[in-house]
Amino acid sequence: MPDNRNLRSLLKDAAERGVQYREASLERHVAPRPEAVAATAEFVEPMPDAGTSDAEVLRILDEIGSPATVNMVGPRYFGFVIGGSLPVTVASNWLTAAWDQNVGMHEVTPATATLERVAMSWMLDMFGLPGDSAAAFVTGATVANFTALAAARNRVFNDAGWNVEADGLIGAPALTVIVSAETHPTVFKSLGMLGFGRNRVLRAPVDGQGRIDIARFPEFDGPTIICTQAGNVNTGAFDPVGEICALAKPKGAWVHVDGAFGLWAAASRELEHLCSDFAAADSWATDAHKWLNVPYDSGIAFVRDTAALKSAMSITAEYLMTDSEFRNPSDFTPELSRRARGVDVWAALKSLGRDGVANMIDTCCANARRFATGLEGAGYEVLNDVVLNQVLVSFGDDASNRQIIDAIQADGTCWCGVTVWQGKTAMRISVCNWSTTAADVDLSLEATIRIARQNALRS
Ligand SMILES: *Cc1c(COP(=O)(O)O)cnc(C)c1O
Repeated sequence: MPDNRNLRSLLKDAAERGVQYREASLERHVAPRPEAVAATAEFVEPMPDAGTSDAEVLRILDEIGSPATVNMVGPRYFGFVIGGSLPVTVASNWLTAAWDQNVGMHEVTPATATLERVAMSWMLDMFGLPGDSAAAFVTGATVANFTALAAARNRVFNDAGWNVEADGLIGAPALTVIVSAETHPTVFKSLGMLGFGRNRVLRAPVDGQGRIDIARFPEFDGPTIICTQAGNVNTGAFDPVGEICALAKPKGAWVHVDGAFGLWAAASRELEHLCSDFAAADSWATDAHKWLNVPYDSGIAFVRDTAALKSAMSITAEYLMTDSEFRNPSDFTPELSRRARGVDVWAALKSLGRDGVANMIDTCCANARRFATGLEGAGYEVLNDVVLNQVLVSFGDDASNRQIIDAIQADGTCWCGVTVWQGKTAMRISVCNWSTTAADVDLSLEATIRIARQNALRS
């Protein structure tokens, strides 16, 4: 039988192991060693009949699990678009786990519901979005896009005299969905989950940076939803959201902004010009586990039309306090029961303050520019305008790019991924971690350039 006798030693042991992991992450090889990955085979066993002591479970987890993790929290992980969790957010996450609150309804969990409400109003203010917008704390940008687009679906069909929540999509009026040719693949999934069909969408042509080319924007009429993007996952480029809103508004179309990481530019004085027209849109999605550097999983949807989001997401039942005078978090999210992930968002914002958030964003962008300057100085081609935190570099043809990127990953000084940008293979560098310094960029540049030169000599 589980009991609380060893609670103190168990949780302290977990904390100590977590501290050791984080301290080692500053120097650790970024990709796990092949032997460590091979050792995860020890996890694979038939479900045991007899239990194992809690201390032993934790020991196995740390001794086999920790070495086989990718050092994503370290300062030289530049793969995908991944943050590194601020220390205070790991701490808040642990404490929140100890609370184990179900943040579905305010009256059941007043502390966490209040913290989420506060974090929501701080973000609306910081991003310059309408202050009375609704927000939903969800698992990530995929579900944030889904949630915001469910509100869009409600409003657009409602305007056309159709109750989509009650009557579904079969027999519903026609609807046009316009996305960018460079839309993130998860947006197509969200559209599929909403019954719009991944392929039944118009794709707006883009320019060489992946921005919607407004001169070639598709014609549209009738009920319409338009998905724009702030922060292309390869180049970091922003769609002309203001110009798209100007086309959309007179026709009553809904404009959504996928700002999974790009929305954070609005927090920076240097970058806020990229987001100056965003308040004209109807909904916005972002991640907190990317650029705010909170632990997984954490994303937020913001929706101007609170009633549309509530109609899409709320439920009523006799045993639930759904007519509360308070903001019930579950009125806005796909989930009823969920963890209080907004508490980590609050902790990050409270710890950094407005200036600290801006500084974190600006530092990442400065380090991205440092990468670009260093790589160009060494004679390599940077394929994108480095407007944000993303850098695409090519070392030559497809085969040499792939060889060099594999060798960089194996070397372990840093970790960058491979991508194909408008037909050209490239290495993709994303600077999102709060702890990355200029010295980390220099170390990574040194390793990258050394490996690329060796590769050129060999071939
Ligand atoms: C990362 C990303 C997503 C998906 O976000 P998840 O948090 O992985 O669900 C969607 N859109 C853009 C632009 C992204 O960068």
